[in-house]
Parts: sequence; C-alpha cells; structure tokens
Amino acid sequence: MAEYQTFDHDVLIVGAGGAGLRAAIEASAAGVRTCVLSKSLLGKAHTVMAEGGVAASMGNVDDRDNWRVHFADTMRGGQYLNNPRMAELHAKEAPDRVRELEAWGAVFDRTKDGKILQRNFGGHKYPRLAHVGDRTGLEMIRTLQDHGIHKGIDFHMECTVITLLKSGDRVAGAFCYERERGLFKLFRAKAVVLATGGIGRAYKITSNSWEYTGDGHSLAYHAGAAIMDMEFVQFHPTGMVWPPSMRGALVTEGVRGEGGILLNNQGKRFMFDDIPANYKNQTADNPDEGWRYTQGDKNARRPPELLTRDHVARCINREVKQGRGSPHGGVYLDIAWIKEKMPNSAEHIKKKLPSMYHQFKQLGDIDITTQQMEIGPTTHYMMGGVRVDGDTQMSDVPGLFAAGECGAGLHGANRLGGNSLSDLLVFGKRAGEYAAKFAKDHGDVSIDMTYVDEIAKYALEPFGRTGEGPYQVQHDLQDMMQSRVGIVRRQGEMEEALDGIMKLKERARHVAVDGNRDYNPGWHTSLDLFNVLTVSEAITRAALERKESRGAHFRDDYPEKDPTFATFNLVIRKGPDGEMQIAREPLPPMRNDLKQIIEENK
Ligand SMILES: Cc1cc2nc3c(=O)[nH]c(=O)nc-3n(C[C@H](O)[C@H](O)[C@H](O)COP(=O)(O)OP(=O)(O)OC[C@H]3O[C@@H](n4cnc5c(N)ncnc54)[C@H](O)[C@@H]3O)c2cc1C
Repeated sequence: MAEYQTFDHDVLIVGAGGAGLRAAIEASAAGVRTCVLSKSLLGKAHTVMAEGGVAASMGNVDDRDNWRVHFADTMRGGQYLNNPRMAELHAKEAPDRVRELEAWGAVFDRTKDGKILQRNFGGHKYPRLAHVGDRTGLEMIRTLQDHGIHKGIDFHMECTVITLLKSGDRVAGAFCYERERGLFKLFRAKAVVLATGGIGRAYKITSNSWEYTGDGHSLAYHAGAAIMDMEFVQFHPTGMVWPPSMRGALVTEGVRGEGGILLNNQGKRFMFDDIPANYKNQTADNPDEGWRYTQGDKNARRPPELLTRDHVARCINREVKQGRGSPHGGVYLDIAWIKEKMPNSAEHIKKKLPSMYHQFKQLGDIDITTQQMEIGPTTHYMMGGVRVDGDTQMSDVPGLFAAGECGAGLHGANRLGGNSLSDLLVFGKRAGEYAAKFAKDHGDVSIDMTYVDEIAKYALEPFGRTGEGPYQVQHDLQDMMQSRVGIVRRQGEMEEALDGIMKLKERARHVAVDGNRDYNPGWHTSLDLFNVLTVSEAITRAALERKESRGAHFRDDYPEKDPTFATFNLVIRKGPDGEMQIAREPLPPMRNDLKQIIEENK
C-alpha cells in the first residue's frame, strides 16, 4: 500500500468559484474544519469571468419587481422543467445574498439615490441584474475571497480531484493530484460539496476556459449519484466569431441590455420577425418601444433581442444558414447606433461596457462605440448536473452535495442570464450549511486504500504507454460534439456521435504522455478525458431520448414542444454493469400557491 499526503476535514469543497467559496464561508462559520480544492489558482474560476450581473429582485430600479415575478420568469425561461422549490428559494433569497455581498465589501454600480443599480437582461421582466460595469464576477470573487480568507478555511490550489472516495454508501473524501509536482493527495472528509462549474470544453466553440471538463458531473455520476437534464446545454447567442483565436469568447448580454441590436448582412433587425407566442405580451413590437425599455420606461416592453438565449441563438443560426450572415459566420451586434439617441454615446458605452470595449479594441481592432461587432452562438452554460434536494443540495449519495453550475434543478430547460451568479450564492450558502450539519451529525469515515492504490496506478498509466497523445482525442471529441450534438440536433447525427464517443473512450484508454509528473498539461488532459467523455455521453443519450424541442434543446426532426415531455426530467445513473442508464422521472410536484404565481404573471 502506497503512502500519500493525507488531510482530514469535516467538509471538503471541490471548486473555488462563487459556489465553492460561498459554501466554504458558510461551512466554516458553522464551526467545522473546512477545506477548498481548486484545479487552478485561487481567483481564476469561471465566476471571475462573469460580466453582466447577478439577478435579484431588489426592485431598486423598478419597484414592481419582487420574488414572485423573478420566480415566474425563471420558470417560464426553464419551460417549467425547473424544480419549483429551488426556483422559489432562489427568487426569495437572492436579494439577501446580494446585500450580504455588499456588506462584505462589494462595490456595485449605483442608482442616483445610492442603491445598487440593476440592469435589463434577457427573459427578466424588470431590470434585475445588480452589476459592476461588465466585471461583476471579478467583484464577486474578490469579495468572497477577501471575506473567506479570514475564516480559517484551508485552501489547496492547483489540486485536481480524480475520484471521490466512499465509506460504504457515504462519501468519504477525494483523491487528487497537484499540478505543480504531480504528487497525489488524499482528503478524508465527512461531507463533500461539488462546486466544479461547467462542461464547455466538451465543445469546440465555447466561452468556457480549459478547466471546464465536467469533472463534478462525472465525479458524482461515477460515485453513484444521479445526474439530470443533461440534454440542456446553453448556447449563448453572442460569442466573438473573429479573430479566430477569440472565437467563442463571450460578448455579454449586457450589450443588448444597454440597447444593442442584432442585424443581418442586409441591415435588417431580424429579431422582430420571430417572437414566440408565450413572450408576445411582454415583447416590444417596434424599435422605439424596445429602446425606451432599455432606458427605463416602465410602460415599454423589452426588445426582442432580450428574448431568452435559446431563442436568440437559434434565430442567429437561421440567419447564417440562410445566407444572411456576416463574413466570418455570425451576424452583427450594434451598440454604436445609440449615438442617434445619445450625444455622449461613446463615453456611455465605455462606462457601461468597459470590458467589451477593450476586448474588441485590443483583440479585434474594432471600436464598438463606432463599429458593429460580429457575433455568433457559443457553448456557454450547462443546465444539467447533479440531482440534488432543493433545500439541502444533497445528492443521492449521503454526504455528497453539489451547488452552482454543476448542480441541476433551478434552470430547467434554459437558464436566464444573471441567474447563475444568484444560483451559486443562494445554493452555495445552502450547500455549505447543510454539509456542515451533515458532518456534525455523522461519525468518521474510513477509506478503502486498495481502491486508492488502483486509482493512483490508473492515473499514472499514460506515462508507460506509447502512441497517440490526449490532445487529438480531445480535439476529435470537441469537433464531433460541436457538429453533431450542437445547437440544432438530429437523430442520425446524434447516433453517429454516440458511436463516436464509444470509439473515443477506447482511444482515451490508450493515450500516451511524454515527460514526467511535474507540470505536465498533457498528463492532466489525459485524465480530464475520462470526465469530458462521460458528460458528452450523458448529453448525447439525453438529447436522443428527448424527442421534442424545448428550451436549449432543439431537434430539427422534432421541432415542436411535445406535452408528454413536459412532465419529467431525464435522469441518468450508472447501472450495475457500469453502463449509463437513463430514466424519465416525474417533475417534483409544485404547490398550488406557486402555480398561482405563474398564472398571475403570464
Ligand atoms: C464569460 C462568462 C461570462 C458570464 N457572465 C455571467 C453573468 O453575467 N451572470 C451570470 O449569472 N452568469 C454568468 N456566467 C456564468 C457563471 O459565471 C458561471 O455559471 C458560474 O460562475 C459558475 O460558478 P461555479 O461556482 O459553479 O463554478 P466556477 O466559478 O466555474 O468554479 C469552478 C471551480 O471548480 C474547480 N474545479 C473544477 N474541476 C475540478 C476538479 N476536478 N478538482 C478540483 N477543482 C476543480 C475550478 O478550478 C474552479 O475553482 C458567465 C460565464 C462565462 C464563462
């Protein structure tokens, strides 16, 4: 039996983004020994990249807003596949979580009377996103880190979990390697919170960074937890399409919230042509009304550019496919046009959207205060994830919790912009609180060291091999997911993808890496492949099973919604033979008072 550096904690948190940090703050406040692991350096999670804002119905800009409207908007956006209890808790608790951040030192943009400023975003009826220019995530992560660092939490940076450990049915910790020296570390814990973020690196064009290989989804699944809603991958409508090195980088929805419009190569504002029936009442029917909405006119309805992301992304896709796209395969996003309405438009744009201004100026030599941007859809967010209890965030595996993007339930078939930052605050806090409670209520765990030795041996096998490296497998997977399980899906193509994933799994089992264990990204990629292939298989199987179009899942061969698919979530578990099993499980029941709120807000 090998010796490993071993650490003991009550609560182990995997991930140092918003969800992980918020969970850690809560767990350590409950007086339990808390540790956070992160694949990258502290401060580099996805949360730091968030631009547009955090959704919370504080009603600072429009006092008609309240948790009920936020709840109804979230459910409508998710096409009613959301867990209603989670949508309720989220809408009720988000304002307190944002004000708490302010109390901890976050400096939000302000209204004239000194309240937290809120901006418009797609699918939200009223201006609801608290923000700091277009650098909201940076302020959030800075605040959470500053606050958390004084709480006695242990941190292990650049430490990647390869597998979760169990003690009988219970979770018992995690086994990791540290990136710098490649040494193994063993963490024993009474409760584990997964807060590992998304899966974007399963696709070729994505706004996600290298870390997002679906580790939490895969770790939970292989530990026996259910994952669900895996067919719902969000393609954000506005990613950069040029220059090629920046393809997929996000262009915040805040641009449209500030009045940005979408045009095809004929200069036509095409979004007015396709407004879904369930949004007709809430959507402007002329450009002037749309503009007035973005400027705070309470009697105006939102412009069609601020319809939900799934719909806007598909409209862009259609324009490009039908030959009305821009030279590099996107359409145009224009904020410069607001000079017709505002004398100081250039200064206004730079103040409201400083990162976007710099991103386009420095990387594409485009001045967005005078020129149009070329944009197109990019893989952005995963609605699917670990199935959890709505109140506690515990999965099917006792002691294993999940929060933030790697958890599922809140967003249903489609997430509204801004609802992720609020999700990770609300449910990060809850996960930390209940993980601490679980740790206090349960005794010590014991770890099967034979299993740990097997995993350590498996992790080092790529060094002993010759042949294909991991990057080609990763590249082929991303290409295949992009072209066959992307924004528009078809049965035959997805069957080809599933067959391809099985072959790629086989290739991944035999990849070879050169060099040694010190800072070896090839080795790290060879281990990531296991996770990204697991989530790709889950996405493809669920997408094949859902024979309809709903939210972010669009099938060319079943373009309509089918009411029979409105009654269940697709839930995936590892079967006794190690194969993926997919089941249709009824949606959690909704209380009558919540149903009433939805009716009132239709
Ligand atoms: C460019 C961009 C802009 C966005 N803008 C907004 C916005 O304006 N509003 C909004 O609501 N949402 C926005 N989102 C989405 C939102 O930022 C993310 O969904 C959210 O930050 C996810 O937070 P998280 O805490 O769940 O995970 P993350 O912040 O992604 O953190 C995940 C953590 O897990 C760690 N990790 C992963 N795997 C492992 C492993 N195996 N072992 C150890 N550690 C691991 C990572 O290192 C990281 O520390 C944006 C996303 C992007 C990419």
